[in-house]
Amino acid sequence: MPAFAETRACLYCGKTLKGRIDKKFCDDYCRNNYNNQQKAKGSHSSYVRNINNALLKNRKILESLLPDAEETAKASKEKLMNLGFQFKHLTHIYTTRNGKKYFFCYDYGYLPLDNDWFLIVRKKEE
Ligand SMILES: [Zn+2]
Repeated sequence: MPAFAETRACLYCGKTLKGRIDKKFCDDYCRNNYNNQQKAKGSHSSYVRNINNALLKNRKILESLLPDAEETAKASKEKLMNLGFQFKHLTHIYTTRNGKKYFFCYDYGYLPLDNDWFLIVRKKEE
């Protein structure tokens, strides 16, 4: 038997494998667990990736609507939606002393105004 065949280990539990050279697992138990683990890993990371992408996109949209020279800007819900803004994704909520809620995507945020308008703000450097 070639040397590498003796050092093959089960991909799931790490036990040394005996027998066929193309074997990757001890048995079906290890194979199933390994496959489930990979599936879980894959779906988790793409889930996280999608949310991160949506958050970054939201931030970019807010940034594009707020000129550098201005402290705030206003945008309609329609405009935000047309740009692909996803309201369900945010990083945190900032509540002011008088109870106003600002919804943030990183350092850019918005305050819902009347009639589906939003005030866009930039977090001030501390
Ligand atoms: Zn195993």
